[in-house]
Amino acid sequence: MHIHIITDLEGISGVTTIEQMEFDSFGYEYARKRLMIDTNAAIRGAFNNGADVVTVTDGHARGKNFIDELLDSRAKKINLIDLYSQGLHKEVDAVMFVGTHAMPGTMNAFLDHVQSSTAWYNYYINNIKCGELVQGGAFLGFYGAPVIFASADEAACEEAKYFFGNIQTAPVKKALTRNKAVSYDLDYCERMIEDRASKAMNLIGNIKPYKINVPVEIKVEFTRTDYCDNASERPNVERIDARTVIKKIPQITDYMSILL
Ligand SMILES: [Zn+2]
Repeated sequence: MHIHIITDLEGISGVTTIEQMEFDSFGYEYARKRLMIDTNAAIRGAFNNGADVVTVTDGHARGKNFIDELLDSRAKKINLIDLYSQGLHKEVDAVMFVGTHAMPGTMNAFLDHVQSSTAWYNYYINNIKCGELVQGGAFLGFYGAPVIFASADEAACEEAKYFFGNIQTAPVKKALTRNKAVSYDLDYCERMIEDRASKAMNLIGNIKPYKINVPVEIKVEFTRTDYCDNASERPNVERIDARTVIKKIPQITDYMSILL
């Protein structure tokens, strides 16, 4: 059983301020340590209940957040593009999200956004407004892997259930404002992630992969026209108004096509 884990930083336990996203801050170094703790908890949960291969993507920003020597040595780090180019995406049996966040415009959500907080206002697949949970879930869902687990703030856990059904979630904090959250007890969070990731393994075979109807239309509304100017230069992208572009694709067959 091959489990692929997609990590992000915003929804990691103990990450409670926007300042912790600044790469040169003291808070960021703490966030990286918590990222490894949450990720390893999910990895243990998977291996404890049937996984024999676990791959994991360091998904925040440029993918340089992991403290590699702290990663559970049984797991292999790989970014989504390499998972795809090496053909491993077809071998994934189920997907877990660790530290994810809600789509932009979500109430009571910590650091809600999709891709770029500054440039991307809304994102749609086939006119369904969504975010990074669906981007990852739809890509691996196309190849038959369901999302079975997500750890995040309360709002993103709700979003995961809304799109993927009755999956296991581990809410590790609650947003007070968009840029501030209150964390739950950190030892409790670690145990909860391991326990629920382990329980999630029982969902494999009983929960459907997330499928997108074809043909696929990706739509991005930008916050400003100049961001849209740049995006409309890309191949197969059509500008439909000052701030909005669409891209029509026959099917979600590679991860980059989802990102426009
Ligand atoms: Zn992120």
